[in-house]
Formats: sequence, structure tokens, C-alpha cells
Amino acid sequence: MARVIVIGAGGVASVTVHKIVQNADVFTDLLIATRTRDKADRLRDKLQGLGVRITTAAVDADEVEQLVALFEDFGPDVVINLALPYQDLSIMEACLAYGVDYVDTANYEPLDTAKFEYSWQWAYRERFEQAGLTALLGSGFDPGVTGVFAAYAQKHHFDSIRQIDILDCNAGDHGYPFATNFNPEINIREVTAPGSYYENGAFHEVPAMSVKRSYNFPQIGTRDMYLLHHEELESLAINIRGVKKIRFWMTFGESYLTHLRCLQNVGMTSIEPILYEGREIVPIQFLRAVLPDPASLGPRTKGKTNIGCIFQGKKDNKKKTCYLYNVCDHQEAYREVGSQAVSYTTGVPAMIGARLLVTGVWRMPGVRNIEEFDPDPFMAELMTQGLPWVEDFNPTLVD
Ligand code: NDP
Repeated sequence: MARVIVIGAGGVASVTVHKIVQNADVFTDLLIATRTRDKADRLRDKLQGLGVRITTAAVDADEVEQLVALFEDFGPDVVINLALPYQDLSIMEACLAYGVDYVDTANYEPLDTAKFEYSWQWAYRERFEQAGLTALLGSGFDPGVTGVFAAYAQKHHFDSIRQIDILDCNAGDHGYPFATNFNPEINIREVTAPGSYYENGAFHEVPAMSVKRSYNFPQIGTRDMYLLHHEELESLAINIRGVKKIRFWMTFGESYLTHLRCLQNVGMTSIEPILYEGREIVPIQFLRAVLPDPASLGPRTKGKTNIGCIFQGKKDNKKKTCYLYNVCDHQEAYREVGSQAVSYTTGVPAMIGARLLVTGVWRMPGVRNIEEFDPDPFMAELMTQGLPWVEDFNPTLVD
């Protein structure tokens, strides 16, 4: 039935590829196209013969012409972008030029500015609409499942949602003093940026890591979490009717924060190029090269993640609260697909988004954030594809 291209062969792509192979009832042919072809070849060698025909290719996803040539050669029904946020626009351009639906998990960021927002991708809305194509933005966990949770809460539990707190807890221990669970460059750019929250129609900025709370996470225990800016705040503020306040919280351990502060203080997290022995290098890219590869953390990481949203609002004129969350075990994820839970919780929703598009369950031409679609089929898929969710109508609130 469906032919799919996955661009990238890193931590998240590896999970999505495993899940595509598990969904051979829908996906028949898979092309893994990435910068370093060896990584794609290793995935193909591991998963070939399990029901989905897998081929690989080398591609520079910054180059629209290379992408279009690849699409013309393979004939995809959907393209899943699991390279880096820098490649979003070139891949969207190529999807328009060839005429194929697009899925990603992170919004566009220019390489030279640590700024992430949807404006660049939303600017493509009319062109996708006119072409009758769907670009599904943010089909990971956060953004991704968090948006689906919001759409589900809005559809089934509330007449109006006043406040959303998104809580992202990773209680995994990989045994290294400092490592990131997904691409280090993207991760460090995200957590060193100023925090922000949405309230009464405006975004309010706070210094990075300056707002802290403790929360007792189900199946994990109490952890410190910090207010961050996160991309889904921007789309949820528009798509969840009447919402007044949205905050995003992520847990960090003391060791992580101490190392990060030190790296920042010595300039290692900077994105400004410097001259080193006659050659220009970008400190954060050099740092990425010396840190453990997130894909290598799988066998070492023990513990769980808990990511979810607490909604507060009204139903039938009465106050109501609902906490929707998923708990994912690092070791169970590793046993199933050879990756830790952070890649797992992102890679599974990317496959589900693509599955719903190619089967026609989701179809809405234009550039769409995930909460714009009917959440029910996605919520059903989460239950059977490895990310079961829990509803709690009496959760502890975040003050
Ligand atoms: P990795 O660094 O592990 O993998 C990125 C892959 O993209 C690598 O295979 C890399 O190739 C490839 N790549 C990079 N640049 C290019 C290029 N120009 N052309 C072709 N391929 C390229 O990252 P992750 O797997 O950890 O993350 C993937 C994406 O998922 C990121 O955008 C990240 O922000 C997002 N993410 C989203 C989350 C969510 O919940 N929504 C959570 C976590 C991550 P090479 O091997 O040569 O470096």
C-alpha cells in the first residue's frame, strides 16, 4: 500500500523505522535517506525481510534539488522529516515540488539564530492548501502527543479549557555525568534559551531556568522541573479555544544543570563561530561532537519518562481538572526497538501521524499543527503502538 521516506537515521528516526516495519499492514516500501548513509544501511540490514522492503540513499536535506530527485526516483506517499529542524523548510519545499504529504517533529530553526517559532512553516499554509497536500507539524511527543491530548481534552472533557500545564519528566539515568537524550545541539539550544509562558493573549519571557517547581510524578516520584519556552505553546494558544494560560515544564537533575552552567560560562554552548587554528568552528557543534551520541544511551539508560498535560477548565459550568499522561520505560523501549525512551516517545508518534495520513484517516490540506486533527484515532493508536496513556481527574496542580 504505502511508500514512505524517512529522512535522517539518528535516534528518533531509528525508532520510527522500527515502528514502520511493525506496521507492514500499511507500509510496504521504506526509503531511509540521510547524510551518513552507513547509519541507514545498518538499520536496513537489521530490519530487512520483516515485511517492508527497505532501501537507503545518501542525501543532503538542505538541498531541495537533491530531495526532489530522490522523491521522483522513489515515489513516496508520505515523507517523514527526522533530520534536524534546520532542514524543515528545504524538505517542505521539496514536498511541494514533488507533490507529497509532509510530517515532522520539531519546528524550523535557522542555524545562526537560537530562535524557534512556527512563523516560517506557517508561511507555507496557502501553498500546501492549493496543492491539496497536508503538512503535519510536530508529530513527536512534545510537540505531538501533548497537542493530541489537548484536542482530546477539549473534545471530550471540557466546554472550555482555561489553563494547560505541560509536564515533561525524564527520570532516566544513563550513568554519564552529562549527556543529552536527543540531538545535543538542538537540546542545548532549547534549554539555554529564555523561558516563557502564555497568559491572557501574550507571551511572557523569564530568564532561562529561573522558575522552578517540584512535582510528584506518577510512577516516578518527586522531581524538580523548570519553566521553558516550547514550540507547542504558540500553536495551542491559537487552537485551544478560550485558553488563558499555558506553561511548559521540564525536569533536570542537579548534575545536568551544574555541567550546563559551566559549559555556558566557558562559552561552549555558543552558536557564534570562532577561529581555532585558522579554521572556523561553532562551539556548540564541537561540543556535540565530544558528547555521547544519544543513540548510544539506549543500553545504559534505566528508569522512566512521564510526559503529559494537566488541563483546568469547566464542564457544564463546574470546575474540572484532568491530567493525561504516558509513562515510558527506558529499558522496555530498548528491548523493543534498541533505543531509549526519549527517542521512543518521539519516534512512535511520527509513525502514527504518517500512518493516519497515508490511510486517509487524517486529511486536511494546508500546514497543520497536530491538535487541529480529530484526536480520537491518534489516541487509539497510542494505546496499541506502545505509548498507552492514563487519565487522572484529581491530579495535584502546579502552583
Ligand atoms: P540525531 O542527531 O540523532 O539525528 C539526526 C539525523 O539527521 C542524523 O541521522 C543526521 O545525519 C541527519 N541529518 C542532519 N542533517 C542532515 C542533512 N543536512 N541532510 C540529511 N540528513 C541530515 O537527532 P534525533 O534523532 O535526536 O532528533 C531528530 C529530530 O527529532 C530533531 O529535529 C529533534 O529536534 C526532534 N525531536 C523532537 C521531539 C519531540 O517530542 N517532538 C523530542 C526529541 C527530538 P548524520 O548522522 O550525518 O549526523
